[in-house]
Amino acid sequence: MTNLSAPLAIPGWEHRYSGKVRDLYAPADGSDSHLLVVASDRISAFDFALEPPITGKGEVLTALSEWWFDRIRIRNHLDPAGPTVPEAVRGRAMVSRRLNMLPVECVVRGAITGSGFAEYERTGAVCGIELPEHLADGDLLETPIYTPASKAPLGEHDENISFEQSVEVLGRETAEALRDASIRIFTEARDLAAERGLVLADTKFEFGVDPISGEIVLADEVLTSDSSRYWDAAAYLDPTLPRAERLASFDKQIVRDWLSAHWDRTGEPPVLPAEIVDRTLARYRELYVRLTGLEAPQVS
Ligand code: ATP
Ligand code: MG
Repeated sequence: MTNLSAPLAIPGWEHRYSGKVRDLYAPADGSDSHLLVVASDRISAFDFALEPPITGKGEVLTALSEWWFDRIRIRNHLDPAGPTVPEAVRGRAMVSRRLNMLPVECVVRGAITGSGFAEYERTGAVCGIELPEHLADGDLLETPIYTPASKAPLGEHDENISFEQSVEVLGRETAEALRDASIRIFTEARDLAAERGLVLADTKFEFGVDPISGEIVLADEVLTSDSSRYWDAAAYLDPTLPRAERLASFDKQIVRDWLSAHWDRTGEPPVLPAEIVDRTLARYRELYVRLTGLEAPQVS
C-alpha cells in the first residue's frame, strides 16, 4: 500500500523518528538543541495505521496544542527564539527544545471511562487508587486522579502503573513534581473547558528534563483531541440520551465506529470512505472552534 503520509524531506532538517502521528526532525547542521515536531495527518485505530490520512488534522492538533501552551502556566518546550518552522510544514509543526523525555505518561482522569473504567470494573481501583463502589462509565470523580502509565516502545501498549511504581522509575522528587504539575494543569484546563461547554474527561501529559538547566518542562502535544477526551457538556448532562451519545468524544470515535461495523479486525483494515474522513476532520475542527472561539486553521 502506498503510504501517502511518509515523512517529508525538509531542507535544513534531518528526519529522526516517526511515532504513530508525529515525525521528529533534528537540525541538519548536527546541533542537538532543538527538534522540529511535525504533526502528520495519519490516523490509527485499534493499533492499525489507516488510509487515507485525514487531511488537515495535523494543522488542527498543532494549533490546539499551541493555544493551550499559551494558556498553561508552566514552562513548556516551545522555543519561539529557535529556528523558524520551515515553509513546507508551516502550520503543522512546532520548534521545540530537545529534552530528555521522562519515561512516564502522566494521565489525569476527572471522569472514569475507557481503559480506566475497564480496570475499575475488574479491580475496583485504577493504578492502585481505590474508587467508590457503583460508579458507572463516564461518572465524574470527586477530585481528579493521577494514573501514570509507563511509556511503551513504538508498537507496544503503555501500561498503567501505580504512583509508587512511577517513583521507582523517576525518583520520588521527580515523580511528585510530575503528579502535582499534572493535576494542577488538568484542573486549570478542565475549568476553562467547562466555560466553553465542554467536559474535559481525561488527558495525558509528557514531560522532559532540560539537558542544560535540569528543569522539568512540559513537552509533546497538550490537551489535543488525540491526547484528551472531551465531551459536549449539554449532551453529557442530558439523561435522556444513550450513554454512547452522552460520551461522544471529539476524536476518532467516528473512525472506530465505522471500522467496527465494516471490518472483523482480521487482515488489513479497509480504506476509509471520503464521508468518514470528512466527518472526522469536522469533529476535530469543531473542538478547536468551540474551545478557542477562533476559526479552524485552513487546510493547506
Ligand atoms: P504514540 O503514538 O503512542 O503517541 P509516540 O509518542 O512514540 O507514540 P508521537 O506522539 O507520534 O509518537 O511522537 C512524538 C514523540 O516526540 C514522542 O516520543 C515524544 O515523547 C517525543 N517528544 C515530544 N516533545 C519532545 C521534546 N521536546 N524533546 C524530545 N522528544 C520529544
Ligand atoms: Mg505521543
